[in-house]
Amino acid sequence: MTRPSENLAAETLAARLARPEILALPPCDIAGAPLPGTIRLDANENPYAALVAGQPTINRYPDPQPAILRRRLADLYGVAPASLWVTRGSDDAIDLLIRAFCRPGADSVAIIEPTFSAYAQFVRIQGAAVITERLTDDFALDAEALLANLAPARPKLLFLCTPNNPTGGAIDPADIRRIAAALPDTLVVVDEAYGEFCDAPSLATEATGNLVVLRTLSKAYGLAGARIGCAIASPGIIDLIARVSPPYPLPTPSIAAALDALAPERMPPHAARIERLLADRAALAAQLAEVPGIKRVREGGNFLFLEVADPADLARRLAAAAVRVRFRPNAAPGGVRVTVGTEAENAALLAVFGIVGSARASRRAEIVRDTKETRIALSLDLDQAEPRRIDSGIPFYDHMLDQVAAHGGFGLILSCSGDLGIDPHHSVEDIALTLGAALKQALGDKRGIGRFGFALPMDETSAEVLIDLSGRPFAKFDGSFLTQAVGGLPTEMVPHIFRSLADSMGAAIHVKVAGDNDHHKVEACFKAFGRALRSGLALEGGRDSLPSTKGVL
Ligand code: PMP
Repeated sequence: MTRPSENLAAETLAARLARPEILALPPCDIAGAPLPGTIRLDANENPYAALVAGQPTINRYPDPQPAILRRRLADLYGVAPASLWVTRGSDDAIDLLIRAFCRPGADSVAIIEPTFSAYAQFVRIQGAAVITERLTDDFALDAEALLANLAPARPKLLFLCTPNNPTGGAIDPADIRRIAAALPDTLVVVDEAYGEFCDAPSLATEATGNLVVLRTLSKAYGLAGARIGCAIASPGIIDLIARVSPPYPLPTPSIAAALDALAPERMPPHAARIERLLADRAALAAQLAEVPGIKRVREGGNFLFLEVADPADLARRLAAAAVRVRFRPNAAPGGVRVTVGTEAENAALLAVFGIVGSARASRRAEIVRDTKETRIALSLDLDQAEPRRIDSGIPFYDHMLDQVAAHGGFGLILSCSGDLGIDPHHSVEDIALTLGAALKQALGDKRGIGRFGFALPMDETSAEVLIDLSGRPFAKFDGSFLTQAVGGLPTEMVPHIFRSLADSMGAAIHVKVAGDNDHHKVEACFKAFGRALRSGLALEGGRDSLPSTKGVL
């Protein structure tokens, strides 16, 4: 946290470095945030709801700086809301910083090539000068050389991109701290657009004094189209950024999308996606490194940086396959930046290099499901037993669902925020429906799967589950419970869970359970269900065989 004395120094620093005309500028004269319970005749809006499905309130101007989103982002990056300004993507934050601090024809900004092209672009639009430094031949940062060159030039801003776009390397945080300390009259702007994809710790919590950090929801959180990013800095610098912000920069649907995407139950699937993108990046890099025409492969962010022997030939082959990448000859001869895509997109890229993988597509599904009662995010992978992270809000149900995934042999990430304060019913049912829908989606055309069943003894209890993925939902539950609930899970919901699964999977599910102990009986049902699924998910028949004499399921 910033101590008051540091803050004071930062305010002075912000004031000292800012354009004097911005310091003198009165705040923008706008209607301000909508206030519930007031009659709003101050903004010349159309008073009638927008004729846009699901977006009735966009007839009103948005909050210029939405407090909830500001708080959520501050929480995400571990800083105070006063130290963060939400921007229209981090592009906007770059532009705002340059406009707040650089006088046309007088000030300069340092960049370190090869790097993200927007820095120099916005500096030139502002009419300020670009000071160009270079990474070493191996795309590393030579902090000593940089400081020797920049100390006399005293640029207003220095952009450091870590990990760097397009070369992928991250800068040692210790170097950044040293550079910031050695250049007290320069704002050192650390662009962490790809920070979630690298191990180096974020400097967000250290963004005081002359250190500024930029973050974005465009990469790790999949919101490039919503245009949400932020600048993190001392409150004095944030105040200057706010002064040059346009009146209502953040569209209402984008604010809502960001809050939705960052809801607590969405965080585990985000983490899983980042892990997957990193694994796919490594797999792509390993395969491309073997290609004779590729001289060098570097990894960073959610992309690869290749150096190819014949970029013109590659461009022709990519064009023929309708695969688009970025050629970066200024970064390195034959330099190409390639984004890590979906499995199918990566396969298309590899095919351009003559690598034809197995035809077998992954059997994955991702579902987000929001109702008034529950908000659920679920991802599963039928071909990966890990990870399994389940948070239904009902620990015993977590345990049961974990049994299904563990015995089914599939990875499951599931989180739910539900109205448990009222009753577990909605969460229990909606999760079962979502899991069933995800299993159906992941199974795709059902090639290679079987009809299956499993019987399981557990001490005095025996359970049997039979499943037919016929497409025709049917559920039969043969068994009863003496107690009301087991571990917070109402036992009357157990048959209902299998019915919901049957409905959403399009499956016939027959469950038969007998025994003396309700805990054992419930657990045995879920275990047997998982085991029954496992035998069918194992692709025993090979991907091209359909488990039906009719040839269709
Ligand atoms: N910084 C870097 C290094 C980038 O690569 C990008 C996008 N390519 C941005 C910032 C801008 O991202 P956005 O405006 O979508 O937040």
